[in-house]
Amino acid sequence: MKTHKTIRYRLHPQTKTKANKLFALAGARRFIWNHFVEKLQEDYKSYSKCNPSYYTLGLQFTRLRDQLPWLQTYSANIVKYSLKPLETCYKKYWKNQGGLPRFHGKYTHPPSISLPQGTFKLNRKSLYIQKISQIKLSGNNPYPDSKCKTITIKHEAGKWYAYVVYEVETSKLPESINPVGIDRNVGQITLSDGTRYNLPDTTKLNARKRRYQKMMARRQRLNRKQGIAPSKRYLKAKLLHAKTQQRIVQARTNWCHQTSREIANKYNLTYMENLNTKGMTASAKGTIDKPGKNVKQKAGLNKAILQSGWSKLEQYLDYKTTIIKVPSAYTSQTCNKCGHTDKTNRKTQTKFHCVKCDHRANADLNAALNILASGIGATARGDSAVRRS
Ligand SMILES: [Zn+2]
Repeated sequence: MKTHKTIRYRLHPQTKTKANKLFALAGARRFIWNHFVEKLQEDYKSYSKCNPSYYTLGLQFTRLRDQLPWLQTYSANIVKYSLKPLETCYKKYWKNQGGLPRFHGKYTHPPSISLPQGTFKLNRKSLYIQKISQIKLSGNNPYPDSKCKTITIKHEAGKWYAYVVYEVETSKLPESINPVGIDRNVGQITLSDGTRYNLPDTTKLNARKRRYQKMMARRQRLNRKQGIAPSKRYLKAKLLHAKTQQRIVQARTNWCHQTSREIANKYNLTYMENLNTKGMTASAKGTIDKPGKNVKQKAGLNKAILQSGWSKLEQYLDYKTTIIKVPSAYTSQTCNKCGHTDKTNRKTQTKFHCVKCDHRANADLNAALNILASGIGATARGDSAVRRS
């Protein structure tokens, strides 16, 4: 089986000319997107069914390109490829799976360029983009033998990045397994051997982020209705805010790399809860039961935070070990000693006390042991409920 994995590289345009070329290409891409979004909006008003295909959009694009000489300095394939998501967007819209496409604003939408096959050449040190030039690249590729499918270039917090999608063979089960269960929680993970890892403390960075947020609130922001562009002071605060956010992400990324390495040095198979299921809300319980708040909504929010925080660790563990997902239902309520499941077993966020056999333990460790046990059982049975990531 094959899956897709995305790896982020840092791009170093090195000269101002190269960087400006990237900005210009992203601008052309945005122009074409907005042009066709507007055109399709008019079509949508006059016909009831507006369902453009990439092919017809491409024909219209070629006609437009002949009329606009400035557009001819850019690679036609790259600029045209920006219309691919437009087709997908309308297809989804008619299936009731999403809204109509929106305009990409200069200030609201960070510059980004998707590169179709044949318009780029990627090697370990550099990325060649059609009609731009060779651009220096840094970052590690954990999948050196895999085929590169697509590349998206983005400008985030003052830096250029390339998101490369690889087609990767799913890893096979190792012959001699040395498994571990991992319980993920808010801000920390617990292994089934009792080791606990806490996420890095970002309180100071969070406070700084809030300060920049307040700064932004005091300054002239983008006002579409009155046609006011954001002030330079506002954009400066916005950049500082984005850079702080990036430092928080970097602290987490670094932690994920180190933690996954430590785990992979000891174990070659990891079992994790499947966070997509409803069971997750139970372990986030300590934070959701606030009176006056919509508990369901809050639980969904917590789940989203948890997922976003742990997906990176999962990604890194995936190429250092083999990951197997187990169903997450009742892992925090079941006693690891006698198997009795009861809502009242979990006394507090940290304490676990079985009502049947009087087994006392740390709640997270108990959950991690349950995950390990359920994983081992499922692997032995070759269970279809177990999902390989
Ligand atoms: Zn028990």
